[in-house]
Amino acid sequence: MNRIANLPSTKEFQKIDAAHHVHPFSDMAELNQTGSRVIVKGDGIFLYDNDGAKFLDAMSGLWCVNIGYGRSELAKAAEKQMQKLPFYNTFFGTTHPPVINLSEKISSIAPKHLNHVFFSSSGSEANDTNIRLVRHFWATYGKPTKKIIISRLNAYHGSSLGSASLGGMKSMHSQGGMPIPDIIHIDQPYWYAEGGNMSPNDFGIMRAKELETKIMEIGSDNIAAFIAEPIQGAGGVIIPPETYWPEIQRICEEHNILLIADEVICGFGRTGNWFGSDTFSIKPDLMTIAKGLSSGYQPIGGSIISDRVASVLETKGGEFCHGYTYSGHPVAAAVACENIRILQEENIISSVRDETGPYLKEKWAELSNHPLVGEARSLGMLGAIELSPEPKSRASFKAAEGTAGLITRNICIRNGLIMRHVYDKMIISPPLIITTYEIDNLMSLVWKCLDEAKMVLEEKGLMSVGNRRTQ
Ligand SMILES: *Cc1c(COP(=O)(O)O)cnc(C)c1O
Repeated sequence: MNRIANLPSTKEFQKIDAAHHVHPFSDMAELNQTGSRVIVKGDGIFLYDNDGAKFLDAMSGLWCVNIGYGRSELAKAAEKQMQKLPFYNTFFGTTHPPVINLSEKISSIAPKHLNHVFFSSSGSEANDTNIRLVRHFWATYGKPTKKIIISRLNAYHGSSLGSASLGGMKSMHSQGGMPIPDIIHIDQPYWYAEGGNMSPNDFGIMRAKELETKIMEIGSDNIAAFIAEPIQGAGGVIIPPETYWPEIQRICEEHNILLIADEVICGFGRTGNWFGSDTFSIKPDLMTIAKGLSSGYQPIGGSIISDRVASVLETKGGEFCHGYTYSGHPVAAAVACENIRILQEENIISSVRDETGPYLKEKWAELSNHPLVGEARSLGMLGAIELSPEPKSRASFKAAEGTAGLITRNICIRNGLIMRHVYDKMIISPPLIITTYEIDNLMSLVWKCLDEAKMVLEEKGLMSVGNRRTQ
């Protein structure tokens, strides 16, 4: 594709952007010096920048464009709804067809015991809703002391004050006032970096039992819920050992703690089923959704609520003093409905489960033979590579954490591949519509970029070993 006519030059765009636009999760001084990438168009799994360069978007935007770019059906659904009723609220005893349809549709695809939805415009807002909802539930239930929420280090649950407190990102908490009171963090099931010489399955049990230890310590009468992503996304696509989730489920049930599955990334097909909870046989009381719900075409999120929680709130809860102007926004809801229709009718999720997911898994696993790779793991349309200067000991780099990852990320972008780095992990989350042919293209780009990265790291003297994770 050539440059799109009539747009300012990239330099001009970057200058205005630097002067007026404050970017999320960015060092402004650094960014304004290098200049932002100006993306102008998307089509399928590809993005194009203002100079006409083409990128294979292995991140689905930000984990969200599940059905790929450029689906005109969603644009039409938005236009139709905007013409008819662009906005009305769902407060004060009002509703409208798009939110009714979407609530029913979500209930029909969610696990059987989840049949109610509270809407927001993002995952962060939905997790803030969850904090209030679980406390309101226990107060209504007659157990008002059950307030504490247990989460995990290196979890990501959003960026508002409440959701960032639920998250376990030290870099976020260090910028003041977080976590808010009554949120506690335990360790994560991250075997590669923290499992040492244990087997993954023993390690999974050990990390799950930390939840039980913590519950004993604070008393289940003080604990409202445990929240976790089925697979940690932003933390670096951390796929828990298979022993982890069954043990967590047992502990939550035995100690009467609500279980919140944050499905913002895993939901809507990413793991080859509608929800990560289906893939890991989790029975959550609440599920957080956003991102893939609309494939990112409109900002919308929500909390899906179990029958047990909903029935208590419905019969004895009184007014739940909480809501967003845009809860159940009609245009966003209409677009989400259309997105779900496409996921269903085009069998996109079963293709991930039966065809493209297993295909990616096979090809991705071969990366573990690369001399820069300590581990290559994947599930459905999620994958991670652990970069290592000494793969067999799962060693970290001696250089500051993230140096090798950033260098590799920049090499990927120069080669037309959008792959993200989380410290020294490289991660992908491609659109669910990626074909096996496109996976081959993705894989040859990944191999090429890793070869180049190894050369550059050697040239820069960055291959020295830091910590060995195993003997
Ligand atoms: C992205 C994300 C969120 C936050 O969603 P926003 O729409 O960015 O507010 C919450 N939880 C998980 C697991 C996420 O990946």
